[in-house]
Amino acid sequence: MRRLLKRSISRLALRGRPGGFRILLYHSIDRAVAGDRLALRIAPGEFARQMAWLATSGYRLVPLEAVVSAAAADGAVAVTFDDGYRDQLDHAVPVLRHLGIPATFFLTTRFLDGWTGRGRYWEAWPHMSWQDAAELARAGFAIGAHSATHAVLAGLAATRLAEEVRDCKKALEDRLGTRVSSFSYPHGVCDRPAMRAVEGAGYDLACAGLFGVNRPPIDRFSLLRTEIDGADRLADFVRKLRGHYDWLGRWQRWRRDA
Ligand SMILES: [Zn+2]
Repeated sequence: MRRLLKRSISRLALRGRPGGFRILLYHSIDRAVAGDRLALRIAPGEFARQMAWLATSGYRLVPLEAVVSAAAADGAVAVTFDDGYRDQLDHAVPVLRHLGIPATFFLTTRFLDGWTGRGRYWEAWPHMSWQDAAELARAGFAIGAHSATHAVLAGLAATRLAEEVRDCKKALEDRLGTRVSSFSYPHGVCDRPAMRAVEGAGYDLACAGLFGVNRPPIDRFSLLRTEIDGADRLADFVRKLRGHYDWLGRWQRWRRDA
């Protein structure tokens, strides 16, 4: 959906009702590049402004892994990053550490191994190495899994699905020496078998691709997220946190099921 249309609807949409918890989704934090049509990149200065606002906003900033317990959830915000771009370490981590904001980084083992795809433009952006990931874990950030090869999990054969989910967890845990309890579905796409595979592999929760705030009854294996993108100005960021964009999730569902 066109950016201007989204922004206009969000201005008309009512603020969401209070309660529930929100999981922010970020991708790359770096200078804009030509051809980033999904606006996956956010300028470091813009990200710093968003985090500075968040730190003094009154929202409770909690580790993602804490929001599954109901007591910690209401009114809480968790910060997450997908894909493990190297720039997250360079530009997001210093800001998060300075402000004391916890975050979860969802990593794909094939990207950590140095694989660079040529199919999608963002696959060619530099990713963290295993050493970088170890540095993240040592700094106290949570490591989550984002599959072994970043394949779309919906519709995969059972053995391949199990490998994507289980091998990634095992490799991250063995090599980084930290428990990996959360999962983020590649491309935000999941189906029932994928959700069952994630639960069966011993994860506690998983983030799906739909936009929105999480309110009871909560399905721990298809949590909603609030994606922040490179075209968001601070006012858009604040409106996303306050629920003015939550209608997007209903629209995404309608499109998916249509
Ligand atoms: Zn991804």
